[in-house]
Amino acid sequence: MKYVSEYRGAALVHGVLAQIKETVTQPWVLMEICGGQTHSIVRHGLDQLLPEEIELVHGPGCPVCVTSLELIDKALAIAAMPNVILASYGDMLRVPGSARDLFSVRAAGGDVRVVYSPLDAVKIAQENPDREVVFFAIGFETTAPPNAMAVVQAKSLGLENFSMLVSHVRVPPAMHAILGSPHNRVQGFLAAGHVCAVMGYWEYGPIAEQYSVPIVVTGFEPLDIARGILRVVQLLEANQAVAENAYERAVTLEGNKPAQELIQRVFEPCDRNWRGIGMIPGSGWCLRTEFRDYDAELRFDVEAIQPKESPLCIAGEILQGLKKPFDCTAFARQCTPETPLGATMVSSEGACAAYYRYARLDVPESS
Ligand code: SF4
Repeated sequence: MKYVSEYRGAALVHGVLAQIKETVTQPWVLMEICGGQTHSIVRHGLDQLLPEEIELVHGPGCPVCVTSLELIDKALAIAAMPNVILASYGDMLRVPGSARDLFSVRAAGGDVRVVYSPLDAVKIAQENPDREVVFFAIGFETTAPPNAMAVVQAKSLGLENFSMLVSHVRVPPAMHAILGSPHNRVQGFLAAGHVCAVMGYWEYGPIAEQYSVPIVVTGFEPLDIARGILRVVQLLEANQAVAENAYERAVTLEGNKPAQELIQRVFEPCDRNWRGIGMIPGSGWCLRTEFRDYDAELRFDVEAIQPKESPLCIAGEILQGLKKPFDCTAFARQCTPETPLGATMVSSEGACAAYYRYARLDVPESS
């Protein structure tokens, strides 16, 4: 494929790493926002190739990981109801709720189906007019446009048996929460390239200025990530707190305007609970009033749920860059991909899963 293999060339990556080494003069803590970037970093061992002054911490940009336990428990309750088909992306089926996961509900007779697009769920609703079809709509700004499109399509088709359990989250409020915390360690950000392909990066300049941190839009291949790190380090060393784009082949300052207009038409900002982190004001998108008929939380009576998180799981601290997976006493012991205690061990973008999969199993004896 053109424009992918070129960004995996070892010689080019090592060239940028050498530039980073020449540039850095003091310790810096950088956070990559996106779980896809985390996986690429750990898979290619980029963090181990960096100068020791650079520490990478892993951000909350994994939608499966940050979907609140309360909403997962609601999805489990709805999926177990008679006459309901719950459609979801595959990753969500293994995410542990308080007591079980969607696989368990399916094994017990619930009709839980894996789809690859929200429009597949709309089609299931068309084909099953006597059943209630609920799509579990999780994700950041990247999945918001197709989910908005599905609601618009359901409305135009007059489908009354389709609804969405919405768990959309937004990156900028999460950056405010991390940078505004008294425990914050992050001094520079690699922003998520695919989110910025939709939303642009015009929102990040004021954040960079407010907290005096450089923010660089970064892609996902090893060369992209090395270039993003180099640019953040150059800005830190020059004491410049600005937002820049190092993913020029996919991102513009303004982003994808038609996609943004579709999001604005269907969703409006709302407060959102992030798993392990807590409520972040204005960090979610909820359905606008004119689309509330499609809100599964209003359609199904599932309000009284009291979620219960595993006491061993420290995913919330990992997602804020305060700890690493091997700081968790359960990592690779009680918690593995086969027996996950938290969402960061389940998701293909979760930091714990990345450390486990790519053999960062150097668990300290004392932990
Ligand atoms: S290793 Fe498991 S229990 Fe520990 S933080 Fe990660 S997901 Fe949670």
